[in-house]
Amino acid sequence: MSESVEEFDVIIVGAGISGIGAAHHLAEQCPEKTFLVLEAHETYGGTWLIHQYPGIRSDSDLYTFGYRFKPWTGAPIATGEEIMRYLGEVIADDGFDDHVRYRHRIERASFDSATDRWTLEATNAATGEPVRVATSFLWMCQGYYRHESGYTPTWPGMDRFGGEVIHPQTWPEDLDLAGKRVTVIGSGATAATLVPAIAGTCEHVTLLQRSPTYFVTGFNHNELADMLRSIEIPEEWIHEIVRRKTLKDQGELTQLALDEPELVKAELLNGVRAYLGEDFDVETHFSPRYRPWQQRIAFIPEGDLFQGIASGRASVVTDTIETFTETGIRTTGGTEIEADVVVTATGFDLSVMGGIAFEVDGEPVDWAETVTYRGMMFTGVPNLLWIMGYFRASWTLRVDLLGDFTCRLLHHLDERGATRVTPRLRPDEEGLERLPWMDPDNFNPGYLQRSMHLMPKRLDRPEWGHTQDYWRERDEIPMVDLDDGCLRFE
Ligand SMILES: Cc1cc2nc3c(=O)[nH]c(=O)nc-3n(C[C@H](O)[C@H](O)[C@H](O)COP(=O)(O)OP(=O)(O)OC[C@H]3O[C@@H](n4cnc5c(N)ncnc54)[C@H](O)[C@@H]3O)c2cc1C
Repeated sequence: MSESVEEFDVIIVGAGISGIGAAHHLAEQCPEKTFLVLEAHETYGGTWLIHQYPGIRSDSDLYTFGYRFKPWTGAPIATGEEIMRYLGEVIADDGFDDHVRYRHRIERASFDSATDRWTLEATNAATGEPVRVATSFLWMCQGYYRHESGYTPTWPGMDRFGGEVIHPQTWPEDLDLAGKRVTVIGSGATAATLVPAIAGTCEHVTLLQRSPTYFVTGFNHNELADMLRSIEIPEEWIHEIVRRKTLKDQGELTQLALDEPELVKAELLNGVRAYLGEDFDVETHFSPRYRPWQQRIAFIPEGDLFQGIASGRASVVTDTIETFTETGIRTTGGTEIEADVVVTATGFDLSVMGGIAFEVDGEPVDWAETVTYRGMMFTGVPNLLWIMGYFRASWTLRVDLLGDFTCRLLHHLDERGATRVTPRLRPDEEGLERLPWMDPDNFNPGYLQRSMHLMPKRLDRPEWGHTQDYWRERDEIPMVDLDDGCLRFE
């Protein structure tokens, strides 16, 4: 007896900010399509659900990190809780409760070109039962890093350290830092958020970084939004106007960073000096070796990180770790840092396609052997699209952009009477050099560099890469000719 398998037109993997946005666009633009969202966790939110460390907040503004269709009415930089509330409202407004199945971790996905269907095998964590569902189109919104645990390097002497070592991604609920000496290892947005958030609670917090990062400081309010609100402009308009203004300003800053990196660097460092004073060694601690915009520039509202340092409750050490000791950390420069708790804000482990084992017609998919079509689809892998957002601009801008693109693609399939769309290189592209997913000179965070060999490849052509340039894609993606030969419809 053959087992009956539930079928959907589209299955969305993940109920994070990408998956919820994808569901909204699909329901709005393809109302005739049946769809299901499968989510491994017990509820929605993804990144904003799992990160529970003190002070967790966005590092980009919510006028652009929010969706284009749902006005943001709070302060530009939002707490994790506020982002969760915003996402919950989208689910409620759109009536998605019946479309999402939580606690379903997908383990296998198999495409069969005899039926042009993906069959997904998942486990229902609530019952432990295996679940099989099928879909014509698989919309991957699984994010880009492993949620189970963060990346912690191994340092000499860690085993003799008498205190606690904690990764922010798995922050213990009952951790009490009162009276403790804390060292936060790392230099990114997470470290910069954590340090001021705990500075008032613990005895002292030391930010220990191997090398500095750029930060931009500013007030956590938007003057334009405040002014428009004061004259009672509707929130929808405010959202759109502030969004456009923010994108224009960010676009100009990005361009300036590329054209005149030294000028932008000087401006950013002046922002830091304004809090720390002329005597502070900004050159050593906050002047990075890379160019502005090669990594995300985190926004520090009210300069709170620098206020913490200026007040003496926090301090910064820029040096490499020689060894953990029984009571803390010794750096190669000879600094001894006494610590009861060490927080390793050292980043993520990349997860390629949600750890799912993919196969097409019985052949396992090796993502590193594929070439990406515009950073969203992959050669030889039919009826599948992944939303990977922007790192330099807000991630969600690409959720909206690819939401429109996916719906256009689904309509195009129907109009052509096709049931399968597969990216494939055109004959003159077969022999072109296959390059790493991301040009390290363009964007080079550690988690990508560590795992680049696992990622799909790109070619030196706009159709076959992920530009990470929102301003370019904003114009290009809506105009993409679906029949230019990159996509094979059958
Ligand atoms: C602390 C932190 C702060 C950040 N701040 C910003 C910011 O301010 N601005 C910005 O642009 N970006 C920011 N980012 C990047 C951020 O991750 C993205 O912006 C965005 O939240 C990613 O959303 P997502 O839905 O694509 O992925 P995720 O949030 O990772 O969600 C993916 C979902 O898919 C589910 N899933 C994965 N695999 C499977 C599977 N096999 N089966 C079933 N379900 C699965 C997961 O459980 C998860 O719920 C931040 C990242 C972190 C870690």
